[in-house]
Formats: sequence, structure tokens, C-alpha cells
Amino acid sequence: MDFNDTAEEAAFRTEARAWIEASAPTHLFDALSASTFGGMNTGDEDPLEASKRWQKKKADAGWACLMWPKEYGGRGATPIQSVIWNQEEGVYGKLSGSFIIGQGMCGPTMMAYANEEQKQQYLPRLASGEEVWCQLFSEPHGGSDLAGLRTRAEKDGDEWVVNGQKIWTSGAQYSDYGIVITRTDPTVAKHKGLTMFFIDMKSPGIDIRPIKQVNGQSGFNEVYFEDVRIPDEQRLGGVGEGWQVSITTLMNERLAIGGGISTGFPELKELVDALPLGADKAVDNPAVRSKLADWHAKAAGLRNTAARSLTALSKGEMPGPENSIGKLVAGTVMQDIAKFAMDLQGFGAVLTDPEIAEGAARFQAMLLRSPAVRIEGGTDQILRNIIAERVLGLPADMRADKGLPFNEIPTGS
Ligand SMILES: Cc1cc2nc3c(=O)[nH]c(=O)nc-3n(C[C@H](O)[C@H](O)[C@H](O)COP(=O)(O)OP(=O)(O)OC[C@H]3O[C@@H](n4cnc5c(N)ncnc54)[C@H](O)[C@@H]3O)c2cc1C
Repeated sequence: MDFNDTAEEAAFRTEARAWIEASAPTHLFDALSASTFGGMNTGDEDPLEASKRWQKKKADAGWACLMWPKEYGGRGATPIQSVIWNQEEGVYGKLSGSFIIGQGMCGPTMMAYANEEQKQQYLPRLASGEEVWCQLFSEPHGGSDLAGLRTRAEKDGDEWVVNGQKIWTSGAQYSDYGIVITRTDPTVAKHKGLTMFFIDMKSPGIDIRPIKQVNGQSGFNEVYFEDVRIPDEQRLGGVGEGWQVSITTLMNERLAIGGGISTGFPELKELVDALPLGADKAVDNPAVRSKLADWHAKAAGLRNTAARSLTALSKGEMPGPENSIGKLVAGTVMQDIAKFAMDLQGFGAVLTDPEIAEGAARFQAMLLRSPAVRIEGGTDQILRNIIAERVLGLPADMRADKGLPFNEIPTGS
């Protein structure tokens, strides 16, 4: 591993830092720094509007979607340059949250499967944040087993008519477009009868219902389709080839989510350094120190694993399965740390008033957000299956419905 920039990387870092120092919305620095896990704080400003303003400014100066080709709104930068940019953007990178799905997953899918005219029309406005996109994959019957999805698309002339329901669709309530995977042939094996489209989220027949979460936010939605018409020219990939198209999206999903994952360790360290416990500070207590040592080792392991990916990128190689491992470990560590920090604070942990609550109740937010980290972009169990099968070469999971036509798979309902 090599933690130092090459000469070209250092020059790029200097250029990026200078532009950010001159252009970033510094009035938002304190609010953004005080953001809790899963929630963005932009003070009095509307979070989406503040995010769009920063994104547009970056796009106008050539600092949006760095790795995309210039003609589609990017910079044509290398993966390592993109990582350096993220490091330099720091706290202002939180303003990219609303665009991660569109730019990280829908964009690369459009790049691979849309026609040239569509790429020219949609990608620059996606890069500049003027239009937001969502990913309509999961359903009540298709999550980990995405190929079990039931939303139907039936051909009618030059259009497809879509009926069904999606769920957990992040950002659907403010999205302009989305990519949607549907079943177009129920008589063939489940992976073979799927077709992907991109869709205007304002189309008649789409009903978006935000889901109220335990942390009080509504990050994701139920999305119902009733006779929604999609022109055939908005099909991405061939009819029946939606599974292959979805692989492009999902590979990018793991990269987008796995990239900048937090563990909560620095926040815990800050808490125990200041929190009284008996006559001392919590950090002096042997039981606390033993836990800290364990999490410090794991956080350091994750940092070094990330550095290994960076070294690979810097040499022009593709990182291996580190991203799956990173999310798997970090999600559990974050949840354990949040629980421990809540216990340590005793009754004080339930306070929410930022004036009196420790760190503006940041560990409550972490505790309520961490289960989602262990589910989004592949659950712990699915990531373990991937690591077991593709990294360790262990025998594959049993798949009782393999090869069966979708409409002959017993469903119990
Ligand atoms: C914050 C958040 C944002 C999301 N945003 C989106 C979005 O924008 N668009 C979208 O389409 N989806 C989104 N999702 C949905 C997410 O992709 C699914 O929740 C996830 O894939 C799991 O599917 P599921 O919820 O149907 O659970 P299920 O697949 O029903 O799993 C239930 C349990 O069974 C376990 N399990 C399932 N299969 C196996 C197996 N083969 N072996 C061992 N254990 C197994 C799982 O690990 C889990 O513990 C989001 C989810 C979250 C939490």
C-alpha cells in the first residue's frame, strides 16, 4: 500500500482544493458538520435546493460526476482523481446525498444501454443535479431475490403498459426520472423474463406514497403503477434482458454505497473522552477501553482495506471485493457502537434537545439509521453469500426454483 499522492495526484489535489476553497457554500459548513447519520442539516435552507445549487455550481465548473465523459456532463477524470475530489470536498460532499442513486447507479446504466440521443438529452442534467433520478427495483416480493419481482409490463403498440408496486424507492417523491425493472414474460425462468426501462416519474398512473421511518424521516416510498404507459424507445437493453441490465446498476450500487461508509468510531472516541463515568472519564474505564480497542482495530482494518482499494485505483487496476467486506463490517460496527454509546450515557441518551443532548443526540440517529445500512445495497446475509461463493469459492446457496418458469414457482398465496 502507498498512502502518498503521485506528483500528478498532488497537482490535481491542489487544483481541486483551490476551487473548493473559493467556491464552496461556506455559510453551510457548521450546519453540515452537525448533520446526524441519515439526516442532512442545511440550517434554514431547504436541503434539496441547497444540494442542487452546489451541484450546479460544480457542474458549471467541470467538477460534477468526475469520471463521466465530458460530453455527458463529466470531467473524464480517473477513478483515483474522483476519490481525491471526494476527500477534498469533505463536509460539502454531504450535499451529494440526493444524487447518489441517480448519478451512481442510474447514470452508468443509461451510459451503457441508452441510445446516443438519450444520453445527450438526460445525462448532463443528471450530472448537474437539475434532474434527480431514482431506482425502482425492490418490491414486496422482490428484494434480495430481485428476480422474484411481479410488476408487469405488457406491450401495446409502441408502448408498454405497467401495473404493479415498488417499495423502498429512495427519493421517488422528488425524482424526475427513474429506472424500473419489470416482468414482461412470466412463462420463462425468473431471471429471463425481465425488461428494464427508464421512466418519467410524472407519468399518469404513478402514485408515490412516502413511508414514515422510525427516525421521523421519509427517505423512501411505496410507488404504485396503474396502467402507466412507457414508450418502447425508453427500454434499456433487449426484451427479456433486464436481469443483465440490472447487474450493471447493482455493481455500481455497491461501489456508490460502499465507498464512504462510516463506523461511528471517531464520534465514540469524542464521547468517551468527555463523558464522566464515576470519578473519572469514560475513556479511563478498563471495560470501556477494552471495547474501544476492539473497535479501533476494526476501524483501522477498514481504513487500510479502503487504502488497498485506493492503491489499486491509483495503479489503474480495479479493486476486488473490498467494497462488500467494508459495508458488511462497518454496518455492524456502527450498530454496536451506537448501542454502547446509548448505554454509556444512561438516561441522558434519550434527550433530543440539541441544546442539552450530547452531540445533538447523534447516537440516537446512528442507532436508528444503522439497521438500514445493514440492508440497503445487499443485506449482511447476501453479502456473506457473495463473499462465500465468489471470494472463498464455497459451494453455492441452494436455489430450489432454478430453471422453473416464473409462473410455476410455488408462492403459497
Ligand atoms: C435505506 C434503504 C434505501 C433503499 N433504497 C432503495 C431504492 O432506492 N430502490 C430500491 O429498489 N430498493 C431500495 N431499498 C431496498 C433494498 O434493496 C432491499 O431492502 C434489500 O435488497 C433487501 O430486500 P428485502 O427488504 O425485500 O428483504 P428480503 O429479501 O425479504 O430479506 C429478508 C431477510 O432474509 C434474508 N435473506 C434473504 N435471502 C437470503 C438468502 N438467500 N440467504 C440468506 N438470507 C437471506 C435477508 O438477509 C434479510 O435478513 C432500500 C433499502 C433501504 C434499507
